[in-house]
Amino acid sequence: MSTDLIQLNIDGKHVEVPKGTTVIQAAHKAGSEVPFYCYHPGLSIAGNCRICLVEIEGVPKLQIACNTPATDGMVVYTQNAKVRKARQDVLEFLLVNHPLDCPVCDQAGECWLQDYYMQHGQYQARMDENKVKKTKKATHIGKEVMLDQERCILCSRCVRFCDEITGTGELGIFNRGDHSEINVYPGKLLESGYSGNVVDICPVGALTDKDFRFQTRVWYLASTDSVCPGCSRGCNIQVHTKKDVDRHAFKAQGRRVIRLKPRTNPLVNRWWICDEGRYGYRFVDEGRLSALKQGTWAENLQQLAERIKEVKNKGSIVGLLSPGQTNENLFAMKKLFEGASAKTLCVSHTAAGEGDNLLKTPDKNPNRAGAEALGLTVIATNQLQGALCNRDIELLWVCGQDIARILGEELFSELRKRMRWMVYQGSNQNVTSAAADQVLPSTVYVENQGSFTNVDGRVQRLWQALRPLGEARPDWHTAADLAARLELKGFEWQSEEMIFENLAEKVPFFSGMSYEALGTGGLLGKTAALSS
Ligand code: SF4
Ligand code: SF4
Repeated sequence: MSTDLIQLNIDGKHVEVPKGTTVIQAAHKAGSEVPFYCYHPGLSIAGNCRICLVEIEGVPKLQIACNTPATDGMVVYTQNAKVRKARQDVLEFLLVNHPLDCPVCDQAGECWLQDYYMQHGQYQARMDENKVKKTKKATHIGKEVMLDQERCILCSRCVRFCDEITGTGELGIFNRGDHSEINVYPGKLLESGYSGNVVDICPVGALTDKDFRFQTRVWYLASTDSVCPGCSRGCNIQVHTKKDVDRHAFKAQGRRVIRLKPRTNPLVNRWWICDEGRYGYRFVDEGRLSALKQGTWAENLQQLAERIKEVKNKGSIVGLLSPGQTNENLFAMKKLFEGASAKTLCVSHTAAGEGDNLLKTPDKNPNRAGAEALGLTVIATNQLQGALCNRDIELLWVCGQDIARILGEELFSELRKRMRWMVYQGSNQNVTSAAADQVLPSTVYVENQGSFTNVDGRVQRLWQALRPLGEARPDWHTAADLAARLELKGFEWQSEEMIFENLAEKVPFFSGMSYEALGTGGLLGKTAALSS
């Protein structure tokens, strides 16, 4: 046995763990459920909620599993009568002053107090005193977060998050005994740009999300794994969407995406996401292009194919791609533009934005590295004018970029006058789409499968969370359909997965990859290929 490993026995199961592992981690590895509130793998250990008590052979008193190092030969019991009685007592204590808000609390359905109470509770209440009333319910403590002190069980996770992760220290625990309460320090507000994470880690409904409050019940939500498109970090997220929209009272103003939550990936975002990414999902349902300007898809593509054939060899077709498109859509559209003898450009979404030392990167393009790996040069927004304006363009095909915003409306309208035909293929309405001759509505990232490559060259998968809205289609689908009308070969894909297989064969950066191999955590591309 390696000297870096130790062996212990948990509930009769043998388990081997690295030295330095705590009993709670070893128990979870052994498949023994040890409940916890204050413990969080991404934060320091506070050891104050006491619900993770376990019995260790040879130790007279029960011990908290979160702060006890596992040692070689240790024998631990996590489910015996003594331990279960202790949990019941801890729960009884935590509930002494906790209000029974469950019917209106947004945490209902994912509240750890409810869950553990159902497993271990003291069902015959013995409390006949009045509960200690805290200050008024639901106070604003920041742009995104509400606080209800009465529901707080003082686990201090939120305080440690602000001290240890953002370093902004807005929250503290004030007063003593049963008058202790969580609050922001005088004159401070939760405004670190990562405030939504305190809602995720609050095990009860004390910290709630203003954006989500009273929109729906969590049991009406479906969850799909995805990747945030807000910047080149590519934080791993879960997309929570409405199921059975018409069957219940909570309609969330008709939105299909209700909230985004972080998904743990130790190699990218650990347990966190920024507020910008978390609340940046409204474009999925608002201002969408969900219909063709006129005619059917078949008519539109036939008309476009004829135009392309007419001007194909005159060197006057320009195709404009975006590093916001997935690897699959970029691969397909680039191949189509090559087949149509178009000059292909790829332009940054926006000028660089704000980054920080935690997760946010200044590059707001989720797939710049993917575009570069596919051989595209991503030009900055201020280079677009030079790239477009000195050309004689018969047909400009814009994918996802609002070039009117990038160029400025005056310059755009001059350019537009010189152009014979303009196609806008994208997901949301903007000035460019309004000025286009043809609009081909595209799906957004949660409506199709695909992958993005992040700033570190990690290729990560997106899963389909929603059906395409209206007539919207994935870009690769449009490319394949048009290619058939232009009699181009090599577009015989039936799914994003087939494109990815094709891409992994052709592009060295992706070699050896498959959707299955990417799994939920992603894989690093062959960076040597990227930099060469
Ligand atoms: S507000 Fe929530 S996370 Fe913060 S101490 Fe209270 S229970 Fe814990
Ligand atoms: S850091 Fe970037 S990728 Fe991560 S959540 Fe924020 S915007 Fe999204």
